[in-house]
Amino acid sequence: MKPAYTRVLLKVSGQSLAGAQGFGIDTAQIHRTAQEIVEVAEHGVEIAIVCGGGNIIRGINASAEGISRAAADYMGMLASIMNALALQDALEKCGARTRVMSAIEVKQVAEPHIRRRAVRHLEKGRVVIFAAGTGNPFFTTDTGGALRAMEIGAQILLKGTRVDGVYDSDPEKVPDARRYDQVSYKDFLALNLGVMDSTAIALCQDNKLPIMVFDMSVPGNVLKVVCGETIGTLVSA
Ligand code: UDP
Repeated sequence: MKPAYTRVLLKVSGQSLAGAQGFGIDTAQIHRTAQEIVEVAEHGVEIAIVCGGGNIIRGINASAEGISRAAADYMGMLASIMNALALQDALEKCGARTRVMSAIEVKQVAEPHIRRRAVRHLEKGRVVIFAAGTGNPFFTTDTGGALRAMEIGAQILLKGTRVDGVYDSDPEKVPDARRYDQVSYKDFLALNLGVMDSTAIALCQDNKLPIMVFDMSVPGNVLKVVCGETIGTLVSA
């Protein structure tokens, strides 16, 4: 298989590190994810990762239970740092060279996010894991993914999820939900489609960054999307 891109950003949701139990970090699952990433790097593709934190805490849910939204969001960002460290460990066990760069300073465990340094790491063949989203509350790691993808000049934002693309309604709830092969940013926003939040989509729209939403639970899918196979939904202009 020949890669269709030279530099990509993969958004790994917290949920896809949780395995079947639905929360926390599942070591077997994280190892599988790491192997998929290493496979891409071994094809000579520069790959950066943005880790979510929803398997540990999601700001919006925690605030519904009484924690102030900003505090809950900072907790969510710290959760994404934990995921990033777990993924870094798993990647290194698979033989990859890695760096974690955090939007919140935690200098004992991760480098601060410095755009030019991140690009240099990628050029040297290191897998860069961006942690702590944008560093600001009231955002999501999807928006962090869009932002970092633009900063490093990634050609595509790969959004790995548990479903095989974008649907007109939630496929886990509506049995005859219809899947899109392609959808424009405009329609995505107008139809209020799920999977990614509107801030992330709007940012990609303004900067013409294509997004591929695909099922990360199927082994080999990350390499397939990197090689240009349309196995999910392409969100573009
Ligand atoms: N978060 C935030 N700002 C950011 C990124 C994340 O405040 O730039 C917080 C927010 O509370 C979010 C949580 O971190 O719910 C975990 O991230 P997210 O829900 O995006 O993770 P995922 O759904 O990808 O696991």
